[in-house]
Parts: sequence; structure tokens; C-alpha cells
Amino acid sequence: MYSSISENLKAIKFNISEAKAKYRSDDDVIRLMAVTKTVPYDKVNFVISSGVCLLGENRVQEFLDKKEFYDKSAEINFIGHLQTNKVKYIIDSVNLMHSVDNLKLAAEINRLSVNSDKIMDILIEVNIGNEDSKSGVHPDKLEWLLREISVLPNLRIKGLMTIPPIENTEYYFDKMNGIFTDLKTQKIENVSMDILSMGMSNDYVLAVKHGSNIVRIGSGIFGARK
Ligand SMILES: *Cc1c(COP(=O)(O)O)cnc(C)c1O
Repeated sequence: MYSSISENLKAIKFNISEAKAKYRSDDDVIRLMAVTKTVPYDKVNFVISSGVCLLGENRVQEFLDKKEFYDKSAEINFIGHLQTNKVKYIIDSVNLMHSVDNLKLAAEINRLSVNSDKIMDILIEVNIGNEDSKSGVHPDKLEWLLREISVLPNLRIKGLMTIPPIENTEYYFDKMNGIFTDLKTQKIENVSMDILSMGMSNDYVLAVKHGSNIVRIGSGIFGARK
């Protein structure tokens, strides 16, 4: 019934392992995230049963409608643009937020995490191409934002996320990897650069080449969104 999804998954896993063999070290771990926007929960559960154990959610309302039907064995990350007033709806159902790009949002995640007595892991989204159409902090302001957020007690910054420009994508992946590697050597307190989240259906092989360790794939797994 889901044979095209199976075929897609097989090809993607193969391509990731091939890129890893070519460009990365043996002990690097590259995780495949299934991005679920517009996808019915039964298809999502099929990919979970096929061994994908990481889901990426974009839309708060859609996630709330589907989450009770999901197989509970997968980890759920929030990857979409997040409004401050919606954090409360998802804070208890996700274990990593990829799209934190301003202090007000971080402060609200921290406040709710304090209330729930939990530590929330986050990534900072970087607008690496400085495009008006995209969310994310400008690269020039990244370090400032990292330092401001790093003092919030119930947040842990685990790394960076980006969606690069369509043109010159490889240049921007390389640039992100440079920033990521540089921040790793800086050892800012409460900031660890473990996760570099980049690469989607059309560019994940290039992202793996340039240091990504979570690739976020939607249409490449499930087919084109309607
Ligand atoms: C939709 C989306 C993806 C996946 O995009 P595809 O091109 O369908 O693979 C990845 N990351 C984010 C933030 C998205 O919104």
C-alpha cells in the first residue's frame, strides 16, 4: 500500500550512507527526520514502522490534530516558524525546537519550561543567506543571540538549523558548517554545538557533505505536497 514511500526511504538512506562514506568520518551519526506537514497520520506511522524514529512538525494546529494518532515510539521535533503565543500548546510534546530565532520566543520557551519543571533543548535558526522571505537570525547577530539565550536556565542550546537560499546552496552549507565549527571551539557556557540541522529533499546530499547531522525530508519521502 505504501510501496512508493518504501522505495523513497530506501533510496534516501542509500544516498545518505553513500555521502557519509565519501565525505564524513565513520563515527558520525546522521539522522533522517521525516517532515510530516500535510501528511496523514497513517503514512507517518508507516515511516515510523519502517525505522524512521524522528518526526519534524511545522504547524502547531496540524500537529495538535494528529499527535494523538501517532505511534508514540518516535521523537518529535518542532521545525516550523513558531509564534510566541503558541509555545504553550507544544511545549510538553516535543523534545527539540529547531526554529528559535529571537529572544522573546526563547524567553517564553524558558518560562514555560520552568513552569513544567523541564529542560528544553533548542537549536538557533540562522538565516544564512540573509533573505527577507526567511526566518532565522542574521549571521552577524547570531553570537549575540546565543549569549543572551545561554543565560536562560531551562534552555539548552544544542546547535544550529538553517534553510539555505536555492541558489548557491553548497556555498551556504559550507558557510553554516564554518560558523558551527567556529562556535564549537568557543565553548560558550550552556551552549553545545552538537547538532547541525540542514538539508531537505532537494539538497540533503550536499548538506551531509558539509557537516549536517539531521536532514529534514518531507516530499522526498511522502511525495509532492498537494
Ligand atoms: C517542509 C520543510 C522541510 C522539508 O521540505 P521538503 O522539501 O519537502 O523535503 C524541511 N524543513 C522545514 C523547516 C520545512 O518547513
